[in-house]
Amino acid sequence: MSVRVRIAPSPTGNLHIGTARTAVFNWLFARNQEGKFILRVEDTDLERSKSEYTENIKSGLTWLGLTWDEGPFFQTQRLDLYRDAIQKLIDQGFAYPCYCTPPELEQMREKQKATNQAPRYDNRHRNLTAEEIAQFEADGRKPVIRFKIDDEQKIVWNDLVRGKVVWQGSDLGGDMVIARTPEQDSETFGQPLYNLAVVVDDIDMDITHVIRGEDHIANTAKQILLYEALGANVPEFAHTPLILNTEGKKLSKRDGVTSIDDFRKMGFIAPALTNYMTLLGWTPPDAQEIFTLDSAATQFYLERVNKAGAKFDWDKLDWLNSQYLHSMPSDDLLSLLIPYWQEAGYQFDTGADKQWLLDLTTLLAPSLTRLTDGVKDGALFFVDGVTIASDAQEFVAQDGAKAVLESVGSQCESGLTLDGAKAIIKAVTKEFKVKKGLVMRSLRVGLTGALHGPDLIQTWLLLNQKGMDKTRIETVSNSISN
Ligand code: GLU
Repeated sequence: MSVRVRIAPSPTGNLHIGTARTAVFNWLFARNQEGKFILRVEDTDLERSKSEYTENIKSGLTWLGLTWDEGPFFQTQRLDLYRDAIQKLIDQGFAYPCYCTPPELEQMREKQKATNQAPRYDNRHRNLTAEEIAQFEADGRKPVIRFKIDDEQKIVWNDLVRGKVVWQGSDLGGDMVIARTPEQDSETFGQPLYNLAVVVDDIDMDITHVIRGEDHIANTAKQILLYEALGANVPEFAHTPLILNTEGKKLSKRDGVTSIDDFRKMGFIAPALTNYMTLLGWTPPDAQEIFTLDSAATQFYLERVNKAGAKFDWDKLDWLNSQYLHSMPSDDLLSLLIPYWQEAGYQFDTGADKQWLLDLTTLLAPSLTRLTDGVKDGALFFVDGVTIASDAQEFVAQDGAKAVLESVGSQCESGLTLDGAKAIIKAVTKEFKVKKGLVMRSLRVGLTGALHGPDLIQTWLLLNQKGMDKTRIETVSNSISN
């Protein structure tokens, strides 16, 4: 049977890094096995699901290059399927209505707490008589539907990441709720809950492998029982390790990131991020660190997914991002930088300024870690004026610097060439009998307000092409007291 996997996000928030990483693993596995990758939107939680989150999830996956072969399917459009399954489970004695009220359930929990028992439903409505049911209905109680879970049974599966997993039925919290009755619709079992809907969908969509985060392990035990009750084949399961913060806790909003959008805004690029996410819990056989999704797909085996949690490492992600930016053709890098520059309000004409923008991109590329560095480092070329750093101010306060800058400033003319720039520097060095280093460093301060930066002559040429060199050098030389 051909492989079919899915990513099944709930649209109750933006595309989160954990979900995206699960999507990466599913995508890689599908590609490796020449199978299908399906997108299913689990939107049965009507209160928390929002269409803007669905859009964010779709655009995030697309941006990452995780294209899906089928879907998106929406659970809210498939309610009949779940209702049929619930009816089947009731008819065959696997499920039953439970009329417990919230206060009754609360009381049950309190008692369990008082005797140091784990909270669980005590299956008290499992064997209601027809009279009892009639009485509860007459009282206007709305039932939930519970699926029977026998305490004595063991649920065992061979997890493709974790090996043999064994769950005791008694550790699953008693008979589980699989559907609620919505207030407005007492004729049906209404709202199916996650475990039921997921199993019905995975059966209906012929999912062969369920690859998801290890926080779903207890759900898997429950879901296996549902597969069996529904007479379906149980798929293979692979539980991937959680992404942890530097303290070893599950990565959360407090760690400064939530969604893939956040990473994009921070200046990470999609191939670097997918590369990094792949390394979060998976090691390629050749131990390569930099690879495309396509090349990872050729060697992606679930057996190589680690069991231990994967620590999120900002330095590593930064390093990977910089490697991608440094090795990218200028044309491609420019197209990535343009939206950031536009957002920063920098003025330029992508047509007329094309060559200048390309040269600027080539100049800045080696020092970029994130695309946002292009905004910071590029400011100098788009925004008039100069801020002089204190160490730079100190440097140009030394003897000779002011005169050098005045002389260079007076020689700035439009149409400066590489040879012309070199000639000016040489002439000024000779004229004032100073070291070339003094001229170069003073000139850098004059052009940029700083002592360090990218290639000086290229910087000068680019500023000259925008008519920004002369006034800037003059501003700096005027700021130096005699
Ligand atoms: N909607 C679930 C989630 O977002 C899907 C889990 C699963 O893959 O079954 O966590």
